[in-house]
Amino acid sequence: MPIKILITGGAGFIGSAVVRHIINNTDYSVVNIDKLTYAGNLKSLESVSENSRYVFEKVDICDASEIKRVFNQYQPSLVIHLAAESHVDRSIDSPGEFIQTNVVGTYTMLESSLAYWSQLQGEEKTNFRFHHVSTDEVYGDLPHPQDINNSTLDNQNLTLPLFTENTAYAPSSPYSASKAASDHLVRAWLKTYNLPILISNCSNNYGPHQFPEKLIPLMIINALEGKPLPIYDKGEQIRDWLYVEDHASALLLVATKGKIGQTYNIGGHNEKKNIEVVKAICKLLDEFFPIEKNLEINNLRLDISNYENLITFVEDRPGHDMRYAIDASKIKNELNWIPKESFQSGIRKTVKWYLDNQPWYNDIKNEKYQGERLGGKK
Ligand code: NAD
Repeated sequence: MPIKILITGGAGFIGSAVVRHIINNTDYSVVNIDKLTYAGNLKSLESVSENSRYVFEKVDICDASEIKRVFNQYQPSLVIHLAAESHVDRSIDSPGEFIQTNVVGTYTMLESSLAYWSQLQGEEKTNFRFHHVSTDEVYGDLPHPQDINNSTLDNQNLTLPLFTENTAYAPSSPYSASKAASDHLVRAWLKTYNLPILISNCSNNYGPHQFPEKLIPLMIINALEGKPLPIYDKGEQIRDWLYVEDHASALLLVATKGKIGQTYNIGGHNEKKNIEVVKAICKLLDEFFPIEKNLEINNLRLDISNYENLITFVEDRPGHDMRYAIDASKIKNELNWIPKESFQSGIRKTVKWYLDNQPWYNDIKNEKYQGERLGGKK
């Protein structure tokens, strides 16, 4: 039987990369269900939308009767569950939507999957899997190099802790708390009902098609428009950056080859301070689209010599975690996965993609989001 994969949230940033990856690199079929919230964008799927192995259905994962219909109609052998509210700053402003989609939506997917799986027989029942896509933010905050008192430690031997699959959950934001809750539900559906599940927890993704509320696209687009580049606090926060196509390949591997009941951490071994990320973007823009050329083409009036001059420091995000970093040795040792892109190669491709795809983000700017600050204090 050919594999048919039900993907939730396939019109989002990572979901669309997973759909494109599957259609372009396998002979599997994909049913993509997505509510098309502000973050969903079918333009990210234009390259595969005509493929006979791809179907899209506009469905809310909280709508149990619609999910039941989708399962019965398409009979998937695998679910990759990505649909979520995903932006920490928005979770600070409106936590209720995060509880609804991330917790109630995941519960609805689990109940519908269980009802569907329970009536399968033979190989179809044995082979069925539910892969829940989650984040490293469930593990909370890690020690930052600046917290370590060098007088008590030999700097040469300084190794900072990383998140492993056994790290205790300690989420800080409404977003990460809602994802942590959904992870617990997924594990409970295995332990209590034997639903064959897998979970992956990944570090920060970046790459083409990311909604411009997130750090990297926001900085690229603001810089191209000569707007300030707002950095929370001093930009010392560390994230472990992974190129989205590397995440997509890891997700398909975990979903198809991972061991039932297991959790896999996915990361790029690319720890960078936010300020370093923004400076790297500025340097690439200086190279690809120097300020003088930008001023000339876009008719801007700016008294700056390079994009770094646009950096401004703004009040920090409430509850901002200082450091995330993944130990990805389990997925490397057990599933033989390592990322293809380094931060240098991935960020280069990303900046170039935004330069070459202005209509993609101009539509978002015109219809959905103009770069305003989100996530103030309540
Ligand atoms: P995204 O916000 O770009 O996309 C989310 C998608 O889910 C959108 O297409 C949206 O329309 C859809 N959606 C939202 N609510 C829905 C609902 N009720 N029913 C159906 N569809 C709905 O998010 P993303 O960055 O692509 O993240 C995808 C998943 O990966 C999320 O579960 C997120 O927690 C996880 N994740 C993200 C990152 C990251 O860096 N972006 C890192 C690790 C894990």
